[in-house]
Amino acid sequence: MEIHPKVTQISIWWDKVQDEVNVYLIRGQKNAIIDTGPPDAHKGGIYTTLRALDLALDDIDLILNTHWHIDHAGGDAAIKAVSGAKILIHRDDAFFVKDHRGSFDKWDAPVIEALKGSEYLEQAKAAFMDWQGAEINVDQIDQQLEDNDLIDIGDGIELRVIHLPGHTAGSVGFYWEKEGMIFTGDSVSGLYGSEGSLPIIDDFPAYRKSVERLLEISPRLLLCAHQYRGLNLPRFPIRRGEEVRQFLLDSQETAKMIVEVVGHVASTSGQQSLSDITDKVIAELPESMGYRPMSQLPSPIHTARTVFQCLNQLNSF
Ligand SMILES: [Zn+2]
Repeated sequence: MEIHPKVTQISIWWDKVQDEVNVYLIRGQKNAIIDTGPPDAHKGGIYTTLRALDLALDDIDLILNTHWHIDHAGGDAAIKAVSGAKILIHRDDAFFVKDHRGSFDKWDAPVIEALKGSEYLEQAKAAFMDWQGAEINVDQIDQQLEDNDLIDIGDGIELRVIHLPGHTAGSVGFYWEKEGMIFTGDSVSGLYGSEGSLPIIDDFPAYRKSVERLLEISPRLLLCAHQYRGLNLPRFPIRRGEEVRQFLLDSQETAKMIVEVVGHVASTSGQQSLSDITDKVIAELPESMGYRPMSQLPSPIHTARTVFQCLNQLNSF
């Protein structure tokens, strides 16, 4: 769908998790794609959208990753293989695209150990590696981005890199200042999208600062990767005008409520398992937020991971 004469939204249905992922094509002198979606999206939604615009996969010059997660960088290797496109990703996330094993060890292993015990680690790791698909070789990353870098796409389109850590350490927004348009991936996620799950936040203090930074920037158009909800905003990936601020405030409020409730649960009950803590947190958050207990979630590990990280960070608030 056309968002702007130079910007096309490509919605991809990811069957594996029954969720929509959005990537965005920007056509300047160069063709840039903001994220490549889950593995194989280049054979489906991306391919057909490019065809409708009289383009092909090998016309893509730049792959701009908002962060390393598989549903956003999953097609990087395949698209680069066809087009020779340059891959750009923030330096704090570059490690993960090229080392899936390392990313599992850092982010998922401690949560799985806390949930199920260490005897499940090898099995979970094998499943994770299978899920992630091909790693990107280190020398395939052409540029490791830093805050404030400028990316020139030609035809007067310049995107500024805004480092927005929190969801991942190297999450970024790509800000087209002239048009007031920012592509934020999962950097800011309202109440979240996936049915009943908490938002994925790996670093709460950083997330809060990132949302504040977006409030200061005050973009006119905010383009997310998933269909996120706000407290009173329906699920949708794109926010315009007044809704941008509302969505950012709702994201801020949601993170704050999670921190408060996690702190409360941790302080009122003694030794307990991560599953128990997570379910108590869900039960204490207002029902209207729509979060569900672990047993009803398709990927309970993501919700438990947010609670796990929050517990570890309680002293830094
Ligand atoms: Zn993500």
